[in-house]
Amino acid sequence: MPHQLTELKVNTAIRPAETPNHRVQGDVCVVGAGIAGISAAIESARLGREVILVDALPVLGGQCVNSLIGLFCGVYGNAPEYKQLTHGIFDDIFRDLDATGDLYFNRGHTQTVYYDEVVLGRWIENKIRELGIRVVLGAVIQNVRFEDGRIQEISLATRYGTVLVSALGFVDSTGDAALTWEAGLPCRLPERPIYGSQQIILEQLDETHKPEPVELAKRVHSKADAYGLTRRDGLAFFFPGRNTAVMNMTHIEAPLEPVRASEVGLDGKAQADQVVEFLRAEYPKAFGRAKVRAYGFPGRRQTRWIASVYPLTLEDVRTGRRFDDAVARTAWPLELHDRPEGYVWETFDPDHVHYVPLRSMLPPDAHNLVAAGRCVDGEAAALSSVRVMGPCAAMGAGAAHALDLAGKESVHDVQVTELQQRLAANLN
Ligand SMILES: Cc1cc2nc3c(=O)[nH]c(=O)nc-3n(C[C@H](O)[C@H](O)[C@H](O)COP(=O)(O)OP(=O)(O)OC[C@H]3O[C@@H](n4cnc5c(N)ncnc54)[C@H](O)[C@@H]3O)c2cc1C
Repeated sequence: MPHQLTELKVNTAIRPAETPNHRVQGDVCVVGAGIAGISAAIESARLGREVILVDALPVLGGQCVNSLIGLFCGVYGNAPEYKQLTHGIFDDIFRDLDATGDLYFNRGHTQTVYYDEVVLGRWIENKIRELGIRVVLGAVIQNVRFEDGRIQEISLATRYGTVLVSALGFVDSTGDAALTWEAGLPCRLPERPIYGSQQIILEQLDETHKPEPVELAKRVHSKADAYGLTRRDGLAFFFPGRNTAVMNMTHIEAPLEPVRASEVGLDGKAQADQVVEFLRAEYPKAFGRAKVRAYGFPGRRQTRWIASVYPLTLEDVRTGRRFDDAVARTAWPLELHDRPEGYVWETFDPDHVHYVPLRSMLPPDAHNLVAAGRCVDGEAAALSSVRVMGPCAAMGAGAAHALDLAGKESVHDVQVTELQQRLAANLN
């Protein structure tokens, strides 16, 4: 008798002619699990809502985890006071990651916060689980049933079949306004590309010899042609004590056409490899032994965004206009990447703060849909200063409260004074 390894039997099956769709129902469906969507989902769950969190990627965290962004910007005000402008999930993230040495607070014209992206990814997963938020991952919007001014149901394509999600309220935190677009509602598209970047993490560096930011930018500018670099500036974020750095030194288009979008992902990695060659040769002490530890997913800054009741203007940002329906604030500079070789950078005064109104997050003809994060509405330059993670998370919290207050009614009719009371920590 041959030895039987296992009693496990294998059956033969064939796909049934009628495959039933999976159905999921909840109070709030958040589409897009980047920093804005995570904030919206967590805040909604804390308000006692049943939340469904959807993402096209098989993992949570959107760009902050998977595109290796590496530092939170726009959470704090400018020097010398460095006031914290956004609380909510940042209070929890800062407390927990600081305790394990996975954060670094860096002071310059403002305060940015470096984080370990692996630890942040696990933090997000644990928090989502702890709060009982249902996740549907690897799920791309296929269809949106938009009737009577409300999203009734969305259909998602996954590797394992179609999933239908219905909810009272929806958050479009897809970054590309994919939910709004698929609902057939108007969106905005820049006439020429606003560039994204292929981020990489380098290891085996010697941080004691790291180049100063101004020196690095000057050297890239003067040597870009020799090394075939597209972008003529660049930023290196060294995480102190680890001899690693996040490199933000490429510029890639972020097309919405599927085949082209895939191609530019490969172009971005090729650009990143040229950057590594440049660094190894030009800064042998700091980068001579540099190895790429990870290539992020293609980073996308501003692609397509909703057409809302009120597009935020450049003047609103420059003058720090305080709206009566403000839900988020930041002091981050204008940072528009609209040229392959560089970007516009305009900083503000020490006590400057600018705001995002709820109106910029609401498509006029939809009553249960709120956008949050980098796909809210504004002039391209205005958006460039509110799409960083601080205000994105604040908008997520704002979206959660707006939908909570709206209930079965229109999100356009929520009492803004009550909304602002709830969001006081992020506004006052
Ligand atoms: C290279 C680069 C560097 C940056 N540097 C910084 C920085 O240092 N600090 C900072 O604070 N900000 C930085 N930013 C900006 C910031 O990272 C992003 O604007 C911010 O993370 C956006 O968050 P979000 O939640 O709005 O969107 P995202 O993080 O883009 O998340 C959107 C999610 O929606 C999902 N999705 C999209 N379409 C669909 C669909 N059709 N169906 C289902 N799911 C979908 C995506 O998979 C994704 O997970 C940088 C951006 C880039 C690109």
